[in-house]
Amino acid sequence: MTKTKFIPIRPLIKLNDDLFSIYIRLRDTDKNGVGYCTTCHTLHSFNFLQCGHYISRDKKSLRYDAKNCHIQCIRCNVFLKGNYPAYSAFMQKVYGNEILNFLNTAKHHKLTSFELIAIFNDTLKKIDLLPNKHLALSRIEKITKKFIELGGNINNKMEILT
Ligand SMILES: [Zn+2]
Repeated sequence: MTKTKFIPIRPLIKLNDDLFSIYIRLRDTDKNGVGYCTTCHTLHSFNFLQCGHYISRDKKSLRYDAKNCHIQCIRCNVFLKGNYPAYSAFMQKVYGNEILNFLNTAKHHKLTSFELIAIFNDTLKKIDLLPNKHLALSRIEKITKKFIELGGNINNKMEILT
């Protein structure tokens, strides 16, 4: 039995956002943290890339869905509000219509602190498997420290946290 304790949702979402963004940016870049923007194909480094959501982050059930998120430059993600026509074409090409139907019809779902803690652990595990994780180690440590201070628990011993 694990202890249940009240953990406020908003800071948990913030920490999950930060960690998940690191995951997407590492996943979509090379060993030096360099990658092409999904929607305009310009080359950028880790710090100048963002985690661009195909379906907006407001839809909480898709906020941490790896298929719903890919790297984008700041211009595409912020100024072009996701560069939706190009993003849509990319999604169709990579995942086909099925995933688009799934994402477009996903139900609105409010995440609980229990789910957010599980998502945090899941994201850590995914990062741990990436060959370029060393690029963000100190940030991951900082975020994880805050997560534990907040009352979150880490389920597994991972290379990134040793
Ligand atoms: Zn771009």
